[in-house]
Amino acid sequence: MIHYGKGFVEPGKASFQIDWESRYLYMKRHTAAHLLDHCLAEATGAKTVTLGSWLGDPAYLDYAGSMPLESQIRAAERLENEYIQEGLPVSFSVVPASDAVRLDAPNEERLPKSAKELRLVRVGDFEWIPCGGTHVNSTKEIGGFRIKGVNPIEGGYRIYFDVGEAIG
Ligand SMILES: [Zn+2]
Repeated sequence: MIHYGKGFVEPGKASFQIDWESRYLYMKRHTAAHLLDHCLAEATGAKTVTLGSWLGDPAYLDYAGSMPLESQIRAAERLENEYIQEGLPVSFSVVPASDAVRLDAPNEERLPKSAKELRLVRVGDFEWIPCGGTHVNSTKEIGGFRIKGVNPIEGGYRIYFDVGEAIG
């Protein structure tokens, strides 16, 4: 396994330790982000196209296109909380990269062109999304979801959000 990092590291053996509390929060936020791609598409009736995301504080997702209506944003948030409560399984599959063209995934435009195989993730029986990130096993673990704000950005809009038991 190769880890990329900033700064200087002595060549040779290295040992790593996972900061589990932060890691688990990022897993929840990241899985919630995949689920929001789906919930936004369901609430707006249009495919979502992702531009990027940030899982630190404050967590946000960037989408291409014009900003959804406030009522659509709230509908997506409501759907997301319903799917979290349902405890949908999060599953994986590895496929030849050429198959990804047929997936019509929200991050299709951002996939590395050199990849021969892609790891796909799927929440419940929703769309398969190419992703190498870490996810929770069940949406129940996300606890709850809240959209904290929406701002226009260059070429799209940014949704600030957070997850957890207390905010569902
Ligand atoms: Zn992912």
